[in-house]
Amino acid sequence: MADAPRTAKAVRAVVHGAVQGIGFRDATLRCARELGVSGWVKNRDDRTVQVHAEGAGPAVEKLLAFLRAGPPLARVEQIETEATAVEGHEQFAIRGVSAGVFVVQEHAATAHHFDLRLEVEGVMRSWAIPKGPSLDPAVKRLAVEVGDHSISHNTFEGTLDHGAVIVWDRGTYEQGGRVAWPEALTRGHAVFVLRGEKLRGGFALQRTHKGAKPQWLLIKRRDDDAQPGSDIVLERPESVISGLPLDELERRGNQGAG
Ligand code: MN
Repeated sequence: MADAPRTAKAVRAVVHGAVQGIGFRDATLRCARELGVSGWVKNRDDRTVQVHAEGAGPAVEKLLAFLRAGPPLARVEQIETEATAVEGHEQFAIRGVSAGVFVVQEHAATAHHFDLRLEVEGVMRSWAIPKGPSLDPAVKRLAVEVGDHSISHNTFEGTLDHGAVIVWDRGTYEQGGRVAWPEALTRGHAVFVLRGEKLRGGFALQRTHKGAKPQWLLIKRRDDDAQPGSDIVLERPESVISGLPLDELERRGNQGAG
């Protein structure tokens, strides 16, 4: 990062021992913030704790000393460290924890689209995506920012005056990236991990035009959940609530009304 001090260093550490389920991540977060160290801490599936720490050399060394000792209830057996590149993190965060819910509603409005909604500070921040999301990292999908919705709208499916709606996907999500949320959205670059039934793994929203209807691009990040060449909206058209695709729900709705 251009603005990182020349003395900044970055270290990746893996802590082995009895280190999960005893407040290790919270204690590391507090220590890092006191020291002015940025980066992240997360529990790994192999029961270790992994830390990315960057900042002034002496502060990073103090955090590593804290990790070697561990918080009171931990029993640290071994710590592996390796120098890594400074990534420009502006916060120290716990990774791998849910930040709230997300939903994607397919909407047969005048212009058919998918609404991606992410829970941020008690409301659902929303983007209308004409072609829908993709799991192919080579695909960039236009996402037009629209008004916030209430969380209670997340489970809505049915027929409205302005078209039918199905809940196409839903789950929880994790905030990621180098900048804390919602600041990341304000700045126009937000990275997050979805844990839905269809959409999984890392995504980025990148704002390309500001204005009354800000335009963003939704892009799948390259990770184990990426599916190059796939088109998930064609492959999985069904509602995750009813199992019916949108056109079928619309047809039944019209029959009921007639
Ligand atoms: Mn809509």
